[in-house]
Amino acid sequence: MSDAGEAQGASLVAKEPEAISFAEFLEEIAPTQQVKVSDLFTKSVRGTSAYYELQRPELQLHCSKDTCNGLRFFRSTTGDLYVKPNEPKLCYITYRCSNCQSIQKTFSLHIWLCSALT
Ligand SMILES: [Zn+2]
Repeated sequence: MSDAGEAQGASLVAKEPEAISFAEFLEEIAPTQQVKVSDLFTKSVRGTSAYYELQRPELQLHCSKDTCNGLRFFRSTTGDLYVKPNEPKLCYITYRCSNCQSIQKTFSLHIWLCSALT
């Protein structure tokens, strides 16, 4: 009896796709894919309002410059960006190679901050 109950319970568990880090998303996910990201923003509270600032983690990307030609650290050159819960946001963030300081990569993002996470 209990065995059958357990088996039935297990079959009903829906498999949620696992959230990945924002750095993983930017480094590895091909354009047009929609994924869940775990550490997209940092929350800060000023007075009665909450602000959700988009993270810009350091990335390891391939740099095509002759002097680099391999995986290098890239840092964001984009200023502060804020997202709001349940409001779609389209934005661009630009990264520059920390080694040669000349190669730039720009990501076009469509962000949806689920209010359940705030
Ligand atoms: Zn470089």
